[in-house]
Amino acid sequence: MKVKKEMNGRLEKKESLLWNAMHRFNPEAEQLVAVKGEGSWFTDESGKRYMDGVSGLWCLNLGHGREEIAEAAAEQMKNLSYFPLTMSHQPAIKLAAKISELLGEEYRTFFANSGSEANETAFKIARQYHNQTGNPQKYKIISRYRAYHGSTLGALSATAQANRRVKYDPTVPGFLHVYPPYSYRSIFNGSAEESDLKAAQLLEEMINWEGEETIAAFIMEPFISGGGVIIPSMKYIQRVSEICKQHNILLIMDEVVSGYGRTGKMFGFQQAAGVQPDMVTMAKGLTSGYLPLGATAVKSEIYDVFQKDGKDSHFRHVSTYGGHPAACAVALKNIEIIENENIIERVNNLAQSKLAELHQLIDHKNVGEVRQTGFLLGIEMVEDKESKTPLADEKLAKIIGLCKEKGLIIGKNGDTVPGHNNVIIAAPPLTSTEEDLDFLIDTLQSAIRSL
Ligand code: PMP
Repeated sequence: MKVKKEMNGRLEKKESLLWNAMHRFNPEAEQLVAVKGEGSWFTDESGKRYMDGVSGLWCLNLGHGREEIAEAAAEQMKNLSYFPLTMSHQPAIKLAAKISELLGEEYRTFFANSGSEANETAFKIARQYHNQTGNPQKYKIISRYRAYHGSTLGALSATAQANRRVKYDPTVPGFLHVYPPYSYRSIFNGSAEESDLKAAQLLEEMINWEGEETIAAFIMEPFISGGGVIIPSMKYIQRVSEICKQHNILLIMDEVVSGYGRTGKMFGFQQAAGVQPDMVTMAKGLTSGYLPLGATAVKSEIYDVFQKDGKDSHFRHVSTYGGHPAACAVALKNIEIIENENIIERVNNLAQSKLAELHQLIDHKNVGEVRQTGFLLGIEMVEDKESKTPLADEKLAKIIGLCKEKGLIIGKNGDTVPGHNNVIIAAPPLTSTEEDLDFLIDTLQSAIRSL
């Protein structure tokens, strides 16, 4: 039978029937099959070891193999394997209290399973909040160009990267996109801070033109991660926060990547003094990727609006697995380790004493800018420093391929339009040893310098 034959042919080539895997971009490439992880390293089927320089998908904050986390999950599964949050269970109650403590003000938390769902939840809360506070026409959500906020249709609508959307349009109505604080390629003159503040001004202009009475929320990451590791001036974050307050627009801070120590604070926005978002969404580092969990933390005064007028005001949103007891138990253990092992202090120290060595690459002709906050680093690669033309895809592939050959997994991203994915990413586990970081730095430097 033809189908069977083809299947056999493929299977002989070692291609699996799994759809997700990235090697689909290059069918000739061998599919990497991981079998074991230890700290910042994993081993593939052939026994080759790799350092994971991007923490999986920026989520493996504590690295592989923490037995306490596995035990916390096993204990919880033995005790109460599943329970819906239409009622409640202790791990979710404890975790909600912990999240509120970490955010420094009283927040209520709604649990989901992923970052996309956490953002979807935030959009629905924002729309219903305004609906129930006498502003039913406030429904639009603003995000920034280059931002990534998830893959489901609502979160994708906030994701302003053309190439991720083009085959799925039309996306959800009511999502607008505004110019990002991207000083390296800004249309504005002046210092980085000045150009970022102009980007904030554009947000305000947009609100005025659209009519503030139509805008429900503004969603932002403190540091655009998937769109090329863009690090704005903290004044930008403070300014957009003020603008949102002035116009009764809820500020949703997407901490899916930047949360749980990645940037040298528990949450990235905490780098901007005085900023306290209305909602904070999180996933990834919340469990260090050990189990899926997403969360939308909402200021208590917003939550209160859902408690008035009896049943009609409640939030009509249910998730079968959201806040799974085992995932919450894992998150609690993950946070306990981050605190007990002073992981955040460690990130701050090693970000300066080790990872910052990668800034030396700025003397290379193809390096346009090196951007870093904590253990989140992006190297913008260009053909030459004057034109800032993004480095050709083949040259980027060569750098990433060389790293892989030497046993280092490293990523690249940008605005996802072909030819513009020219930012090399390093985001190693926060527990990486000094030797691991030396390996990452040396391997990446020599791959880039081989150009
Ligand atoms: N927000 C940001 C900033 C992200 O980077 C991601 C995932 N890369 C998401 C949301 C979506 O998270 P998930 O893949 O868990 O749905």
